[in-house]
Amino acid sequence: MPSKLHLANKPTPLWHNDALDRLVGCEVWVKRDDMTGGAEAGNKIRKLEYLLADAVDQGADTVITCGAAQSNHARATSLVARRLGLDSILLLRTSDAEAEPNTGNLRLSRMSGATIRFISPEQYADRDRLMHAESEQLVERGRKPYVIVEGGSSGLGALGYVDAVAELLEQQQLDLCPMSFDTIVCACGSGGTAAGLSLGVGRYGTARRVDAVAVCDDTAAFEAITTRICDEARALRPDLPLTSNLIIHDAYRGPAYGEMSQAQREFLDQVAASSGLVLDPVYSGKALFGLAQLDPKPRLALFVHTGGLPGTLA
Ligand SMILES: *Cc1c(COP(=O)(O)O)cnc(C)c1O
Repeated sequence: MPSKLHLANKPTPLWHNDALDRLVGCEVWVKRDDMTGGAEAGNKIRKLEYLLADAVDQGADTVITCGAAQSNHARATSLVARRLGLDSILLLRTSDAEAEPNTGNLRLSRMSGATIRFISPEQYADRDRLMHAESEQLVERGRKPYVIVEGGSSGLGALGYVDAVAELLEQQQLDLCPMSFDTIVCACGSGGTAAGLSLGVGRYGTARRVDAVAVCDDTAAFEAITTRICDEARALRPDLPLTSNLIIHDAYRGPAYGEMSQAQREFLDQVAASSGLVLDPVYSGKALFGLAQLDPKPRLALFVHTGGLPGTLA
């Protein structure tokens, strides 16, 4: 079993609200993974419990990762790395570095002392090679770098979401929520959360399937990505089964990554206004919007709120 650090506040609460059920159109329980921590909160910290354990085991002194300019993953990584005494270097995608406001995730990453390198969307397409080049330069200077892929979505990172399903099973056994969900719903940005949930559901039950709502790439791309992540995870944990419970939806992406349609914006506001639940516009808002649009609608859903508040405020 790969080693793991304890970094997140777990188990995360389960939350239910009648007004939210009415708005979404089915019974929906919310797993509050937006409450896994303070400024470092969100879904990425579950992956980082494995990834940074590996970094520490390897004697790393610096982590290198990448993302959008308002990346939740880069922010969570740099804050948690600092907690562990590690430096971080963040390769952040932007088409105009000068115009990036020092707000939200970017501000928090800077506060952690991370070294920020803005790269163009063209360079970002080559991010893995750029991160390795960065890593080699550090090695030449006698440092010990550790590279974390986009979103922490490797097989190792996804094990954090396998464990989240085991955590849900314990909560079900304590009667904190219904015993079996028709579906677990999440946003899908780099695929690790969806892949881990799918493996977890295959291993522990708790739900019949996973509906992942894509926020950037299409279904075919995410099927390839999640298949690869699941293969990597099974190599690390041979007790995990082959699964076919994951459905990826690409009809709710909105106009572009980070941009919502008018209907999606209105839905996001209605959710907060009717239930007090604040979703983010890049991921969780589109995912719950997707659940509200599903046809046929499940009867009983578990929605994983993956966080993203700093981006909402940026
Ligand atoms: C990264 C992220 C996601 C998507 O998770 P992946 O594992 O990258 O697919 C969803 N919600 C928020 C708030 C995120 O930061």
